[in-house]
Amino acid sequence: MSDITTRWASQLLETLKTIRNCDVKGFDFVCPQQWDALQPTADESQRLCTACNELVHLCLTDSETLEHARAGHCIAREIPDSSELPAMYVGRATNVPPHTESQENALEWTHRERGIDDSLKNIDAERYCPKCDYPAPDWRTTCRVCGFEFGRVNRHSDA
Ligand SMILES: [Zn+2]
Repeated sequence: MSDITTRWASQLLETLKTIRNCDVKGFDFVCPQQWDALQPTADESQRLCTACNELVHLCLTDSETLEHARAGHCIAREIPDSSELPAMYVGRATNVPPHTESQENALEWTHRERGIDDSLKNIDAERYCPKCDYPAPDWRTTCRVCGFEFGRVNRHSDA
């Protein structure tokens, strides 16, 4: 597993900071806002979403992400800007240029962030990935975040 925090420090890629787990209680909508559009507060790591009236916590590490998600807080994380990803080719493309190293990094990072988004939807799962600590629902066989194979859990098999 590559060290994500190194990439934060290196800032080699254009990125967006997107809000991940906004599901304001009782409303069935996803906050569309990006971190940069939120109202700054005295704390650099917190901004106010005026649509939801919730504080959003910018999370730079996995442990911060899990801590805030478990506390039910809204979080934002950084993800590569789509301009960093390889162009999409549809159909039978010829002469497709090979991905550059930074495109590969952006792809890997983007996939991991999508896995984190998915994992955070299961923040109340009864188990966690033993490798990366992100929540893992019983029916999942591999970790969406790190790819670790933990197998499916069947809690009713004794019946
Ligand atoms: Zn994992």
